[in-house]
Amino acid sequence: MALRYKRILLKFSGEALMGDNDFGLDAATLKKVVAQVSALRELGVEVGIVVGGGNIFRGAQIQGSGIQRTTGDHMGMMATVINALALRDVIESVGIRAQVLSAMTIEGISSGFNANQVKKQLSDGEVLIFAAGTGSPFFTTDTAAALRGIEIDADIVLKATKVDGIYTADPKKDPAATRYSSLSYEEVIQKNLQVMDQTAFVLCRDHNMPIRVFDMFKDNAVIRIVQGEDEGTLVS
Ligand code: UDP
Repeated sequence: MALRYKRILLKFSGEALMGDNDFGLDAATLKKVVAQVSALRELGVEVGIVVGGGNIFRGAQIQGSGIQRTTGDHMGMMATVINALALRDVIESVGIRAQVLSAMTIEGISSGFNANQVKKQLSDGEVLIFAAGTGSPFFTTDTAAALRGIEIDADIVLKATKVDGIYTADPKKDPAATRYSSLSYEEVIQKNLQVMDQTAFVLCRDHNMPIRVFDMFKDNAVIRIVQGEDEGTLVS
C-alpha cells in the first residue's frame, strides 16, 4: 500500500509512557510504543519523535515552593531527556538505529539538534528522538513537536493521546460528546480546544503543517494514518 506520509513527527506525552503508574516509566508501555515505531520503520516511514516529561516533572507544578519557574522548566526539560534516553534504548533493543538529540546538550549523553544533519539521518533510516523541548522555558513539548516537525520537513505532526481524536467535550465526562473527523486551525484556536497548546497550533497554521490527533494504543492506528486512512482528527 502506498504511503500517504513518508516522514512524520510523532509526539508522545510523558504520561503516555507511565502506563497505569502515577509516575515514571512503565516497561511494558515503552515496548508497546516501540512496537509501533518498529511497524512504521518496516513500512519505510521516517520517524522523528518528540517526547514530553510530564510523567516525571512539569515546571508549573512547583509554583510557590521557592523554586523559580525557569528553573522548574529546566527541570521539566531534563525530564524529557530521561524519557528520550529510555525510548532510545528500547528502540535500539529491537534492532533499529536511534539517537537522542537534545535542545539542552549533555556532554557524552545527548548531542545537539541540527536540522540539516537530522534530515540526512532520517533518510538513512535512523529514528531520532528530540529531547528537551524547545530548549526554552515557558514552552511545552507540543510546541516543540510543531517546531521540530516544521524544521525537519515532516509531512505531518502526529499527536498521540489517550483519546482517539478531538471531541466536542471530554468523552469521559460527557457521553454525548462526538469526535471531529477534521477541523481547521482557526476552529481549534477559536474554540480553544485543549488538545495541544495554542502556540503549537499557531505555528503549524503559519507553516501549513497538518496535525493528526489519535489514540496511540488503538491497534494499528498510526499505521492506518500513514497509509492515508481516516483515524482520529485531522487539523489542517
Ligand atoms: N518544557 C519547557 N520548554 C519546552 C518544553 C518543555 O520548559 O520547550 C518543560 C515544562 O516545564 C514542561 C516540562 O518541560 O512542563 C515537560 O514538558 P510537557 O509538559 O510538554 O510534557 P508532556 O505533557 O508532553 O508530558
